[in-house]
Amino acid sequence: MRFRFLPRLAGLLLLAALAPLRAAATIHYTISLANRAENRFGVRMEIPDANQATELDMPVWNGLYQVREFASRILELHASTAAGTAISLRRLTPHSWLAGPAGGRLIVEYSIEWDEPGPFSSQLNDSHAFLNAATLLLFVPQRRSEDVTLELRDVPQAWRVATALDSGSAANSYLARSYDDLVQAPIEASAFMDFSLQVAGREIRVVVHAAPPAPESVPLWSREHLEDAAQRIVETETTLMGDAPFPRYLFILHLGTGGGGGMEHPNSTAIAVGQGFDPAATMAHELFHAWNVLRIRPRSLEPVDYTREQPTDALWFAEGVTSTIAAYTLVRSGLWGREQLYADLAAQIQELESRPARRFESAEDSSIATWLDRAPLYGRDVNSISYYNKGQLLGLCLDITLREATGNRESLDSLLRAMNTRYAQKHEFYGDTAAIQALASELAQRDLTSFFARYVAGTDEIPFAEILARGGFDLRQNESVVGDAGFSAGRAGAAGVTVTAVEAGGPAERAGLRPGDTIVEINGAPATPRLGRLLARLSPGEEIRLRILRGAQAQSTVFHAGERASRAYRVSEAAGGGLPRAIRESILTGKSVAAQ
Ligand SMILES: [Zn+2]
Repeated sequence: MRFRFLPRLAGLLLLAALAPLRAAATIHYTISLANRAENRFGVRMEIPDANQATELDMPVWNGLYQVREFASRILELHASTAAGTAISLRRLTPHSWLAGPAGGRLIVEYSIEWDEPGPFSSQLNDSHAFLNAATLLLFVPQRRSEDVTLELRDVPQAWRVATALDSGSAANSYLARSYDDLVQAPIEASAFMDFSLQVAGREIRVVVHAAPPAPESVPLWSREHLEDAAQRIVETETTLMGDAPFPRYLFILHLGTGGGGGMEHPNSTAIAVGQGFDPAATMAHELFHAWNVLRIRPRSLEPVDYTREQPTDALWFAEGVTSTIAAYTLVRSGLWGREQLYADLAAQIQELESRPARRFESAEDSSIATWLDRAPLYGRDVNSISYYNKGQLLGLCLDITLREATGNRESLDSLLRAMNTRYAQKHEFYGDTAAIQALASELAQRDLTSFFARYVAGTDEIPFAEILARGGFDLRQNESVVGDAGFSAGRAGAAGVTVTAVEAGGPAERAGLRPGDTIVEINGAPATPRLGRLLARLSPGEEIRLRILRGAQAQSTVFHAGERASRAYRVSEAAGGGLPRAIRESILTGKSVAAQ
């Protein structure tokens, strides 16, 4: 994902000056949505001035920090001249080709099959089309910075198109300043519901593609709630940062249509949540990425290299601290009550403490190792922590540390504002974690090397109770006995959730469950996304009914949960006043509160 500022401005000026010439030297994509029955996008790419041999590449990653195989989805690939004479295509690597000289305009045509829901992929079916350009479109590596135009064809009559791209003159046609900018603006085409708001001097558009609710169910989302949430979130985050760096902003929401998660882009986001889930927390997280990671950007992520992994040690900040601010935004805007923030904080601490890998994998390590996320073993709690989880907690701990060191004058808020003015607004990238440490130390007027060495680069246990107490919070731990299913499961896949480990002699093993089994249903409901929550809330002796797939064979099993001791955390407000109280009230309200 790349977002460049100066070239964008230069491109605009050039566009104004040379508009008639530019059109002739622009790579043009036409994408047909006709083959919805086979989930195949029909792509035609016209490359002007292809006098020499032309390399064509398919990205191997986009959105998710994972190497994926987009090129495996291509079929019927061929090249020709504008007059229709076939041009040779030689495969160079699994994801690149060399087309022979076309003596002018080179035409490349292919189909590409995508039917995956969610914001990280593409999908074409009878209900909608969702396009992430990097998962669909070949590019010419030497000409990645040229302007591109894109046109959607065969769009069904009842559908409309939404994207943050600038519109071209023809219907359903769009302009981008480069391939990278095209990649940074997903496209939704469907019979969606939409509305727009004016907030912070910007047009905020919300587009909702939703599954029809089950007949007997209560309404699962309402336009009123989404309007209210969008208004509060945009207002709170633009006020915090002191600017609105996007010319306009588009939320693309997929509600109950499959998939899950959110993907940030400079001027838009795509978010998918299951039936009955509120997208507000994800909206707050993704919108804050318009600053943190897209404009306040670690140097290691630039320039984007679509051909291989691109590690940075700063995802604990880019993702985790984005979650810290998202939680602050929800409570400061009134979308959450304080108790929700405290429950979330307790759950975050519980999650980190439940992962034995915290003793050897640091927040920086986890940021770098995210490229292993697709490997099932890596997801286990003995192999890895989550930089979202530890990063969110580090954000709060750093906030309290900055506030305590400066009598509540500096904070995580002011650190982010300083990064915005020092880097983002000057179109510069920051030097990953080292630069965050330097700027935080400058604001604190204190050397924070020890904090970063122990908790960010290192694996010292974070003394949560002690740090939270300095911020006016009380952290308690209760011993209790909870249910234990005797197995752990990895991340959800298309078919269900894979069993990663089965405890020897435990109830699941006695019932015949094996590592590698795919859980399709639990207690009569689809395993995704319910399984994790259900396992976390089991009571001792509770009945667990599973439908599983072992290879191609479907099986059912019933057993009862065992029990294990659990230490549950609880966060509340500490009774005292003074600086800790002032720090807490400032965090919760976003306003400066004096110590009494
Ligand atoms: Zn994120």
